[in-house]
Amino acid sequence: MNKKKMNQFRSQLESIRSELLGDVEKSKQHVKESEAGQMADISDHAASTYSRQLEGELGEQEWQKLKQVDMAIEKIAEGEYGVCAQCEAAIPEARLKVVPYTEFCTQCLSEMEKNPKAASINDQDPLEED
Ligand SMILES: [Zn+2]
Repeated sequence: MNKKKMNQFRSQLESIRSELLGDVEKSKQHVKESEAGQMADISDHAASTYSRQLEGELGEQEWQKLKQVDMAIEKIAEGEYGVCAQCEAAIPEARLKVVPYTEFCTQCLSEMEKNPKAASINDQDPLEED
């Protein structure tokens, strides 16, 4: 996939992301104002707290979606976008246009639907790739 296309997908992903975060950002700002003294800044060390907060604000489905969107944006940054996380085949662009944050090709997805346990690939250890 060329850079121009990746950029198109990235802006699509970013607009999905800000849509998902829209309401949360508002309530976060509220918290920030009321706890301004204690909250120095939302940097790396606070990231896990921030995630937990988000998890509470978003519904389960939206939370999953947000994680997939973040992962896809990361993949674009690494130049690995559009590759199935399971079989490493290229995901058809037609599919990415419909679901830009998809992680799997249609074949793997349909296999996971048949056998939901296989979907646990999502939980694999990210430290593996050092
Ligand atoms: Zn696949």
